[in-house]
Amino acid sequence: MLGEILKKSVCAQCRFCCAFRRVSLWEVPYISEEVYQKQPDKDRFEKIRASDCDCYRIILENDYKTEDPEEEAPCVFLDPRKGCTLSDEDKPLDCKIWPIRIMKKDGGYVLALSPTCPAVNKVPRERVRKVAESIENTVRAYAKEHPYIIKKYIDGYPVLTEFDRL
Ligand code: SF4
Ligand code: SF4
Repeated sequence: MLGEILKKSVCAQCRFCCAFRRVSLWEVPYISEEVYQKQPDKDRFEKIRASDCDCYRIILENDYKTEDPEEEAPCVFLDPRKGCTLSDEDKPLDCKIWPIRIMKKDGGYVLALSPTCPAVNKVPRERVRKVAESIENTVRAYAKEHPYIIKKYIDGYPVLTEFDRL
């Protein structure tokens, strides 16, 4: 969805957003029941117990080998050579739109930019904003059906678009 500002070849050399420090575990995407049912190793996932979420989280907590807070645990769907092994259809929307996030802010909603993607940080902000505008309706519609993808706004995340309701 972000092909205009993010080249697959650049992401293939990076993979930053597919591995997680302990402090970033809140960023780990949730997968749907349908995708969960296709997984051979169900022990890698746990059901989210929330009324707004018929979905599963990936358990990465047991994958850290050291106490180093900088250590990263790769997503279970990451192949070091091929990248994400999920089909486009199964890939969580969170991953398709990252580093853009939908967040709750001041009683409304925003599409905001995670400041940690090195590639998108080199793109003029106006271009990123235009891409955010172009995907806003899709993200809003998805978030209405899957409210669990809405994160709490984090200070310092540049706001790209704002809206009062989904
Ligand atoms: S951090 Fe940015 S450049 Fe790196 S893989 Fe993720 S989206 Fe691509
Ligand atoms: S599901 Fe795929 S794109 Fe998303 S974090 Fe895991 S490996 Fe990366």
